[in-house]
Amino acid sequence: MKLVTFSNGQAPRFGAVVGKFVVDLAALSKGDLPSRIEDFFEDVEGFEPTLKAVVSAFEASPALGEGVASLDQVKLLPPITRPPKIICVARNYAAHAAEAGLPISPIPILFARFANALVADGDPVLVPAVSKDLDWEGELAVIIGKSTKGRRITKAEAMEYVFGYSIFNDVTVRDYQFRVTQYTAGKNFRATGPFGPYVVTADEIADPHKLDVTTTLNGKVEQHANTDTMIYDIPTILENIAEFIDLEPGDVIPTGTPAGVGFKRSPPLFLKDGDTISVEVTGLGVLTNPVRNEEAV
Ligand code: MG
Repeated sequence: MKLVTFSNGQAPRFGAVVGKFVVDLAALSKGDLPSRIEDFFEDVEGFEPTLKAVVSAFEASPALGEGVASLDQVKLLPPITRPPKIICVARNYAAHAAEAGLPISPIPILFARFANALVADGDPVLVPAVSKDLDWEGELAVIIGKSTKGRRITKAEAMEYVFGYSIFNDVTVRDYQFRVTQYTAGKNFRATGPFGPYVVTADEIADPHKLDVTTTLNGKVEQHANTDTMIYDIPTILENIAEFIDLEPGDVIPTGTPAGVGFKRSPPLFLKDGDTISVEVTGLGVLTNPVRNEEAV
């Protein structure tokens, strides 16, 4: 299933994309499913059977009707508009660490992003007025579906906590990232966190460690690698995070970017007003965003 948050001009709604349609899951289930994906994540196990039944029934005979709209008639929002946490992995591909001139760490390097910098598919990423060093980082994102409830987890059980996958573009303001030793500012500028377009449930992804991640800038491929080259696999990442904080349903874990970012090129290549940046991950769709100057919007 491809789960989304969408708006038809009113409050955000929890939906599923089936072909060219988006279904309003609360409407189609006559209120058995919540109207917000955040509420679905409050009780994934309880809602999952109804979710599967409602989406399967619609897939059997998809058509416009009550609670159904054409995908091109609604506005997609970040699939989870307010994730409880966004914990990112740095330097998870050896070739990217090498291009950045930074060492590979024996344990995952983690940093936090905040929900209010998220950007929907199709919405602009902003070049800030205070810096032009805006760089892309196409990434596979893991979506958590089950709480670790105060306990640490092993690698062997880690995949039980995965609900699905999505795409994240960890757009970074490089000078702000490196002017101090913490990444917080450089990784959290306004409108720098493209996320989506969907959360694809884990049952649709046979092996998350065999997915191509491809980033294109104005149609030209700038990053292309397979997730089988990640240094820390998903179980290792989740085990490390759960060592210090509980994973919660709806958490988003961007897993790091391959080689091919712009800041170490000669001359550096940065995002600028008028560009279009896209990230595609096998089976997860394409996340595309125009780039605009902050002053222009
Ligand atoms: Mg990153």
